[in-house]
Amino acid sequence: MSNKTMSMRYGMHWSRTKKAVKRAAGGRCARCGGQYLLTVHHIDGNRRNHVRSNLTVLCEPCHREVHEMENPT
Ligand SMILES: [Zn+2]
Ligand SMILES: [Zn+2]
Repeated sequence: MSNKTMSMRYGMHWSRTKKAVKRAAGGRCARCGGQYLLTVHHIDGNRRNHVRSNLTVLCEPCHREVHEMENPT
Protein backbone atom coordinates (compact mmCIF):
# COMPACT_ATOMS: atom_id res chain seq x y z
CA MET A 1 0.00 0.00 0.00
CA SER A 2 1.27 3.47 -0.74
CA ASN A 3 -1.19 5.87 0.80
CA LYS A 4 1.30 8.70 0.59
CA THR A 5 1.54 8.63 -3.19
CA MET A 6 -2.21 8.38 -3.50
CA SER A 7 -2.96 11.32 -1.25
CA MET A 8 -0.37 13.44 -3.05
CA ARG A 9 -1.93 12.80 -6.41
CA TYR A 10 -5.38 13.34 -4.96
CA GLY A 11 -4.31 16.63 -3.39
CA MET A 12 -2.94 18.06 -6.61
CA HIS A 13 -6.03 17.16 -8.58
CA TRP A 14 -8.30 18.43 -5.85
CA SER A 15 -6.71 21.87 -5.52
CA ARG A 16 -7.08 22.38 -9.27
CA THR A 17 -10.71 21.24 -9.12
CA LYS A 18 -11.44 23.60 -6.24
CA LYS A 19 -10.06 26.57 -8.17
CA ALA A 20 -12.16 25.67 -11.20
CA VAL A 21 -15.33 25.25 -9.14
CA LYS A 22 -14.84 28.60 -7.42
CA ARG A 23 -14.19 30.30 -10.73
CA ALA A 24 -17.34 28.72 -12.22
CA ALA A 25 -19.35 29.99 -9.24
CA GLY A 26 -18.12 33.50 -9.88
CA GLY A 27 -16.11 33.48 -6.65
CA ARG A 28 -19.25 33.63 -4.51
CA CYS A 29 -20.91 31.48 -1.91
CA ALA A 30 -23.91 29.64 -3.38
CA ARG A 31 -25.88 30.24 -0.20
CA CYS A 32 -25.27 33.84 0.90
CA GLY A 33 -23.30 35.29 -2.01
CA GLY A 34 -20.33 36.08 0.24
CA GLN A 35 -16.94 36.35 -1.41
CA TYR A 36 -14.71 35.50 1.54
CA LEU A 37 -13.49 32.25 3.11
CA LEU A 38 -14.79 30.21 0.22
CA THR A 39 -14.69 26.45 0.43
CA VAL A 40 -15.96 23.69 -1.84
CA HIS A 41 -18.77 21.51 -0.51
CA HIS A 42 -19.69 18.00 -1.66
CA ILE A 43 -23.44 18.01 -2.11
CA ASP A 44 -23.86 14.25 -1.58
CA GLY A 45 -21.54 14.28 1.45
CA ASN A 46 -19.01 12.01 -0.29
CA ARG A 47 -15.67 13.80 -0.17
CA ARG A 48 -14.25 11.55 -2.86
CA ASN A 49 -16.94 12.31 -5.37
CA HIS A 50 -15.33 15.17 -7.27
CA VAL A 51 -17.86 15.21 -10.07
CA ARG A 52 -18.55 18.85 -10.86
CA SER A 53 -22.31 18.46 -10.37
CA ASN A 54 -21.59 17.26 -6.82
CA LEU A 55 -19.55 20.33 -5.94
CA THR A 56 -20.77 23.73 -4.81
CA VAL A 57 -19.05 26.79 -3.39
CA LEU A 58 -19.87 27.85 0.16
CA CYS A 59 -18.22 30.33 2.45
CA GLU A 60 -16.91 28.88 5.68
CA PRO A 61 -19.83 29.91 7.96
CA CYS A 62 -22.43 28.58 5.47
CA HIS A 63 -20.41 25.42 4.98
CA ARG A 64 -20.40 24.78 8.71
CA GLU A 65 -24.15 25.35 8.93
CA VAL A 66 -24.85 22.96 6.08
CA HIS A 67 -22.88 20.22 7.82
CA GLU A 68 -24.52 20.94 11.15
CA MET A 69 -27.90 20.45 9.53
CA GLU A 70 -26.73 17.13 8.10
CA ASN A 71 -25.41 15.88 11.44
CA PRO A 72 -27.38 17.38 14.30
CA THR A 73 -25.57 16.67 17.51
ZN1 LIG B 1 -22.11 31.85 2.61
ZN1 LIG C 1 -19.07 20.24 2.90
